[in-house]
Amino acid sequence: MPKIVLATNNAGKIRELFALMAQLQPDIEVLGLRDFPEIGDIPETGTTFEENARIKALAVAVATGLVAVADDSGLAVDALGGAPGVYSARYSGEGATDARNTAKLLTVMDSVADGERGCHFACVMLAATPDGQEIVGRGIWPGRVAREPRGGNGFGYDPVFFDPVLGCTAAEMDAETKNACSHRSLALRDLMRQWPTFWAKVAHSLRGNARCAE
Ligand code: IMP
Repeated sequence: MPKIVLATNNAGKIRELFALMAQLQPDIEVLGLRDFPEIGDIPETGTTFEENARIKALAVAVATGLVAVADDSGLAVDALGGAPGVYSARYSGEGATDARNTAKLLTVMDSVADGERGCHFACVMLAATPDGQEIVGRGIWPGRVAREPRGGNGFGYDPVFFDPVLGCTAAEMDAETKNACSHRSLALRDLMRQWPTFWAKVAHSLRGNARCAE
């Protein structure tokens, strides 16, 4: 059976993509990085979500000889010129944690008026072949930076990301509600819309690959 590899160790992301792929392409097996322990950490040296997703997808595609799918995401705040952006996970510096990142964001945003607290989560999901053919999926989730953390679900900036349409923070949503509107699921859907054409094109060019020919 042909295989693709998801360039992440995150079991949640693997499950999410697996479920969508199973609907669209039941004949493709989805692997994760844990199936390739020889591939170490891939430094995210890009300055945009797309660059980082491309760096990860291409490195894993080249190392495995398979089509690899990678994503990169973060929070962009209007009043901060798009920061923390690609640096979302590292916003509070060395040894950053979700709690320290959100605390820093609230402090930096303290004097910003209610009408100027717009922000969005962004995600880029990219599929690449070892020879650099690719498709790119994008997802944006608009919201506002809350005044204080609320809710115990999710991760990262969820407790301070207020969705004005649903009237709560991302950390107050259950997983199903978040998955229905999140930047990650929108990017994945965008990628999957392009998938059949991409796969029809690249499966042919991968045909000589022993790992794909099983
Ligand atoms: P990554 O794409 O998994 O590397 O995520 C980068 C960082 O962006 C995370 O560590 C979080 O700080 C932030 N982030 C990305 N997606 C979300 C989300 O859905 N909720 C909260 N924070 C997020």
